[in-house]
Order: sequence, then C-alpha cells, then structure tokens
Amino acid sequence: MSETPPTPTAPAGAATLPLVFDEPRGRKKPPRHLADLDPAGRKELLESHGLPGFRAKQLSTHYFGRLVDDPEQMTDLPAGQRADLVAALLPDLMTPLRTLEADKGTTRKTLWKLFDGALVESVLMRYPDRATVCVSSQAGCGMACPFCATGQGGLQRNMSTAEIVEQVVAAQRSMTRGEVAGGPGRVSNVVFMGMGEPLANYKAVIGAVRRMTDPTPDGLGMSARGITVSTVGLVPRIRQLTEEGIPVTLALSLHAPDDELRNELVPINTRFSVAETVDAAFEYAQRTKRRVSIEYAMMRDINDQAWRADLLGDVLMRGDWGWVHVNLIPLNEVRGSRFTRSRDEDMDEFVRRLEAKGISTTIRDTRGNEIDAACGQLAASE
Ligand code: SAH
Repeated sequence: MSETPPTPTAPAGAATLPLVFDEPRGRKKPPRHLADLDPAGRKELLESHGLPGFRAKQLSTHYFGRLVDDPEQMTDLPAGQRADLVAALLPDLMTPLRTLEADKGTTRKTLWKLFDGALVESVLMRYPDRATVCVSSQAGCGMACPFCATGQGGLQRNMSTAEIVEQVVAAQRSMTRGEVAGGPGRVSNVVFMGMGEPLANYKAVIGAVRRMTDPTPDGLGMSARGITVSTVGLVPRIRQLTEEGIPVTLALSLHAPDDELRNELVPINTRFSVAETVDAAFEYAQRTKRRVSIEYAMMRDINDQAWRADLLGDVLMRGDWGWVHVNLIPLNEVRGSRFTRSRDEDMDEFVRRLEAKGISTTIRDTRGNEIDAACGQLAASE
C-alpha cells in the first residue's frame, strides 16, 4: 500500500506570519544565563559542564533572592569552583552605558549595550505607592508605527529571556540599594512597553514572565497582576496568551477605531482588522477576568475627533461588565515626525464622549519626556 504524505495544513494566515515575526537567522545567540532556564534546566546545564547540579539553587538565590552581582559575595560557593559556576550560569549579559534621570530622580532611563553591541533602553518610574519598570523585549521594532521613534529604525533582533529579566533585576537592585530618590523600595510592576513588540518575541517574553512570577529563589516572586504585556495586536499571539493561563494584564495599542486610519497608524492592522483585534482582546478579558487596557495616543487632527471617540465607544461596547479601560496618551512628539499632540480641550471632549458610553477612561500622566523616556520615544542611541 502506498501512502502519500499528508499535506501540511496550517491555520489560516499562519503560513505568512513568520515573515513578519521572525528575526534574521544564523545570528550569534546571547550568552546562556540561569534566567533563561527553569530550575531543572539550570541543574542540567551545570552538570553538562561537569559541575555539581545542586549549586544551581545557590546561584539562583544569589541572582533572584539576594540580587548579588559580584561573585566575591557568593561566599557559600567553594572558592575554587566559583568562577566556573558563575561563568556557566551567570555570564554578563549587558552593560549600562548611561542613566538619565527626570522627575527629581524618580524616573530613570538606562541605556544598555548587549553582548553583540545592540542597544536597548529600560525606564524605572517610582510613584508614591508603587515602582514600575518599563522593559524592552526587542532591540528595535519591526511594527513600523509612523508616530513611534522605536518603529523608525526597524527590528535588529529579539532579546533573550534573560536579557529581558535582567532589566527587572537591575531595577530591583537599584531600588533595594536605595539608589532611586525616595529611599529603598521594591519594584512592584513591570510593563512590556519599552522597545519592541513583545508578542513578536513570544517565547522569550513568556519565559521572562515566568521568571518574574516564579517564587524566589526560582524567580523574582512578583504577582502576574502587576505585569502588563502591551501589543499592537498580533491576534494569533493574543489567543495563545489567552490559553497560557497567566493572569497578566493585556494592553492593546489601538490608536484608531476604524480600519482606514489604523492601517496607517498601526500597519499590522492590514493583517488583523480592528474588529478581529478587539474580539481577541475581549476574549482575553472574558477568559482571564482581567480588564484589558486600550492604549490610544492622542494625535492632533488625526485620531482625536469627537466622532472618533463615539466610534471607539461603539467598537469597545461588548459584554456587560467593564472589560476595558481606555488610556489616552497625550502624544509624545518625536523629532522629525508630522504627528503632534492633541489640544487639551479635544482630549477632554474625547474622555467625556467615552465616559458617556460607560467606558472608563483616563488620560495617562506621561513621565520622562525631557529625557526621551516617555512612550514611543525610546530610540537607544549613544
Ligand atoms: N509594541 C508594543 C509595546 C510598545 S508600548 C505596543 O505597541 O503596544 C509603547 C506604547 O506607547 C504603545 O501603546 C505605543 O503605541 C505608544 N506610543 C508609541 N509612540 C508613541 C508616542 N510618540 N507618543 C505616545 N505614545 C506612543
């Protein structure tokens, strides 16, 4: 009996996705680090180097629990083995090149150089009741939104799980060491709103979320509710995140309620329409019972008309609970861009119209404008 091999079938749209989502192949990978691995993987890696596996737990405690970065302080490791253990699981991942401060030292933007010279930025924002670190998930971004500085340079590469986690660990270190205005404290929130499209680097991002939420010493022991993943709306990945069962907050960068304008502002919309994208976000909210945030950068005479507020209200009107919260972000103007910030009165009217439809709406207080650390301003140049 002869058999013809089955023709591979892919879900609609899947065949063309990798073209957009994948980075160039054949690159050198970032050094392997314990934050890339789960506890079993860490043990295995040590053993593959001929080192005792049980030391992995001690190294994890130094990294995630005590936030130690100097091997000299790891005095519970045998002196003769310390260098090899550190080289195997705690290689240097990135070097801070520059830290800029604003808002009396409560906003700090750090420029990092990765092992291959790629540059990324992260921003720590301290508020009276919480401290949020805004992390990058890619060097550059391939989504090409014309109003965003990061989108102008294109995608360089995906970051590894450990490179993402290290931004949080570094922020946590500066908080516990009292380097941030306001005295010692802890990072309570993480937002994937730095450089890159997190859902285009799905696997590494989920790994990073797991390291952040795993209890110490396996991870940082943070609450998933304090973590926000922001996306342009890669619909298949939103669905995948829904299945993941980690109750992170989902933020959707919508910026327009109609396909005609959104195709221009968020080019991936030509692949996934507003209706499809909002459906996926609504499904996420229904399944996780987490309220979704809609991000909407207010651009003068582009997307800020009162009729568009009404249309946005209609597009978001689903279900019978407050599944959505709209965050209006006064546009941060990017050098050389034709987009400008909306007038205050137009923003106020926009809020009124949404609220009139029962949609909870706030205007985001944006931080770090003067150090180019605000939303859409991260371009990472030396
Ligand atoms: N790629 C993801 C993560 C980046 S988050 C995403 O787009 O959601 C950065 C947030 O800032 C997004 O909501 C983005 O649309 C918004 N943004 C980009 N450029 C901006 C600008 N110039 N002013 C205000 N917000 C901007």
